[in-house]
Amino acid sequence: MVRIEYVEAASSDEVLAALSQWGPDARLIAGGTDVLMDIRRGKYTPPVLIGITEIPELQGIRPTEGGLWIGAVTTHHAVTMSPLVLERYPVLASASGKVGSHQIRNVATIGGNICNAVPCADTAPALLALDAQAHVLGPEGKRVLPLDGFFAGPGRSVLARNELLLGFVLPDRLAGAGGSYHKHSWREALDIQMCGAAVVLTADPGDCRCLEARIALGTAGPVPRRADAAEAALKGAVVNEELASELGRIAAAEARPRTSARATEEYRREMIEVLVKRAILDALAHIKGARS
Ligand SMILES: Cc1cc2nc3c(=O)[nH]c(=O)nc-3n(C[C@H](O)[C@H](O)[C@H](O)COP(=O)(O)OP(=O)(O)OC[C@H]3O[C@@H](n4cnc5c(N)ncnc54)[C@H](O)[C@@H]3O)c2cc1C
Repeated sequence: MVRIEYVEAASSDEVLAALSQWGPDARLIAGGTDVLMDIRRGKYTPPVLIGITEIPELQGIRPTEGGLWIGAVTTHHAVTMSPLVLERYPVLASASGKVGSHQIRNVATIGGNICNAVPCADTAPALLALDAQAHVLGPEGKRVLPLDGFFAGPGRSVLARNELLLGFVLPDRLAGAGGSYHKHSWREALDIQMCGAAVVLTADPGDCRCLEARIALGTAGPVPRRADAAEAALKGAVVNEELASELGRIAAAEARPRTSARATEEYRREMIEVLVKRAILDALAHIKGARS
C-alpha cells in the first residue's frame, strides 16, 4: 500500500509553504471527488495531499468590489442554494445543480471543478458565459485571470503547480441578465455531460434586441470554450425563435467535438445546435419574465 501524507492548511500562506516544501508532485485537495478518483485509478500518486477547505479566504459567497465573490472551496450545494447567486446569476446555480448527485454536490467545490480543467466540467460554460475572473495566489503574489484563457488543454489549466485558486468574481454588469444552462447526458443524475451550453444575454426590454451576449460550450473541443461566431451574430440582433435556430447552427459549426465512448462527434454537434437554441430561448423568456 502506498503511503500519502495529509496536511491541513489553515491559510493560503500555509498552502504556498507546503507546496514549496513538498515540490511539484504535491496535490491540493478540496472536496476530493476528482483527486481521490484519480489516485484510485492510478493516474498519479502524490507524496502529500494538502487540504484547503478550512481556509477562510477561500470560502463563501459575498458582494465584492465590481461583482460577486465566490470562494474556490464553495460547494456546488452552497452555490445552488445561495440567494445571491439565484437572484443575480441563476445560470451558475443551474450549472452547479447539475453536477453529479446530492452527495457529490455536498462536498465537491466550484474551484475543484474548474481546476480539474476537463471539457465536461458543468460550471465551466456558465462561468465563461458570465465573464468570470479567477483570482489566483502564487509565490509572486496575486494575479487575476479571465476564465476565457484559463484552460490550456484537456485536464490542464494555466495555473502553475505552486499556485492556488482563491475564487472567482462575477461582474455586476451581468447581474440579473437572462441566462440558461443546458446539459445533455444519458441520465439526469450522476452522469457526465455529452455536451453542454450556457447563454447569458442582456436585451432591450422593448424590442428584445440583444445588447450583450455570451455563449459558452462544454465538451465541444479540448477545453470549455466560447462560441465566438454565434455570439457575434447574436449581438445587436432581435432575439426570436428563428434567430435562436440559426445561432444553434452557427455554434454547432464552430464547435470542435470529438467522438468518444459517450457520443460521436456528429451526435454532439447535433445536440450542441439543440442546446444552444434552447438556452437562448430560455434566456429570452427569463428577460421577458423579469419585465412582466
Ligand atoms: C460520481 C461522480 C460524479 C460526478 N459528476 C460530475 C458532473 O455531473 N459534472 C461535473 O462537472 N463533474 C462531475 N464530477 C467531477 C467532480 O465532482 C467535480 O469536478 C468537482 O467539482 C470537483 O471538485 P472537488 O472539490 O471535489 O475537487 P478535488 O477533487 O478536490 O480537486 C480537483 C482538482 O483541482 C485541484 N484543485 C482543487 N481546488 C483547487 C484550488 N483552490 N486551487 C488550485 N487547484 C485546486 C486539485 O488539486 C485537483 O487537481 C463527478 C465526480 C464523481 C466522483
